Amino acid sequence: MTYKIAVLPGDGIGSEITDQAQRVLSALGLDLKLSSAPVGGAAYDAHGHPLPPSTLELAQASDAILFGAVGDWKYDNLARELRPEQAILGLRKALGLFANFRPAILYPQLANASSLKPEIVAGLDILIVRELTGDIYFGQPRGTRVAQDGPFKGERQGFDTMHYAESEVRRIAHVAFQAAQKRQKRLCSVDKANVLETSQFWRDIVISVAAEYPDVELSHMYVDNAAMQLVRAPKEFDVIVTGNLFGDILSDEAAMLTGSIGMLPSASLNASNQGLYEPSHGSAPDIAGKNIANPLATILSAAMLLRYSLNEEAQAARVEAAVQAVLEQGLRTADIFEEGSTKVSTSEMGDAVLKALE
Ligand code: NAD
Repeated sequence: MTYKIAVLPGDGIGSEITDQAQRVLSALGLDLKLSSAPVGGAAYDAHGHPLPPSTLELAQASDAILFGAVGDWKYDNLARELRPEQAILGLRKALGLFANFRPAILYPQLANASSLKPEIVAGLDILIVRELTGDIYFGQPRGTRVAQDGPFKGERQGFDTMHYAESEVRRIAHVAFQAAQKRQKRLCSVDKANVLETSQFWRDIVISVAAEYPDVELSHMYVDNAAMQLVRAPKEFDVIVTGNLFGDILSDEAAMLTGSIGMLPSASLNASNQGLYEPSHGSAPDIAGKNIANPLATILSAAMLLRYSLNEEAQAARVEAAVQAVLEQGLRTADIFEEGSTKVSTSEMGDAVLKALE
């Protein structure tokens, strides 16, 4: 069976980092068809739109998408709908990518990069599953109006609407339970059920889905407590599942625990496990074209692609072990360099991962 992978490098360091991830994917001996297309600012320059029809069609016809990053300050004055970032929103919408996976992993070799004490974070390996297409970010109605009652009656007010439909909560809960089954089988659902009706509803649905996963231990935590526990004892979590708003904040908090933005992969999946895989960082225009960007977040995103969209768990683990091995050898790109280690370029890091795969 041939797996079809769309490679969308994007802007800035995008092509440098996806090049290395493509080399890794191509070296695994799998039957892969990798096809590239422009996205973001690069696509705007070539076709007048950040997500041209030809790129979207390629993405839709693929089993998975390997995405670099988009954005550059030179596009800041474009109309909002033509900005590079719109490409990601367009792909999420067109492909129905409702489940966002953000692992926060801190390799023991990089423990000093975290602002937390090494004993609290070294060896951290947690996964945040964030619902991506619902919640207060998309709820209607929203806008500004004149308050009709309450202590501020007659004043202008801004308002948004938080809601989750039952099937929306069920599908993200299933994805999260299944992710937990592939890990330590512990799932913590984060909400604000003591205050929000939407959260109590979320919690009730998650509890009902849990009956189908007796092997997974389910717990619940209020979001304010979760924010505290993530910095107090982050290793106590395995998988966290939460809504769009809380997940937005907690996933960035968890990412920062590792201190190495160049190391963090991410994935966004739909109901048929088609997914978009990208590093958590942006296009880093400040270092583009210098062959110094860290390609490991993108290589680790390729590992997630193997695991979640292609169901090639052994190959995913093989890529992750190769990354671990190059860190063990003391190889570091500039962003994670420390005294005593060996500084390497983007392509040299790719070379080293390829060698470690053998
Ligand atoms: P950024 O993540 O691009 O860069 C922040 C800092 O981290 C920079 O100093 C950069 O050099 C460094 N950095 C990032 N990735 C690195 C890597 N792989 N190796 C080494 N260093 C790395 O964030 P920013 O500077 O705020 O944004 C730059 C552009 O990226 C903006 O146009 C923004 O809109 C866009 N952006 C895109 C995405 C995406 O494509 N998903 C995400 C965030 C930001």
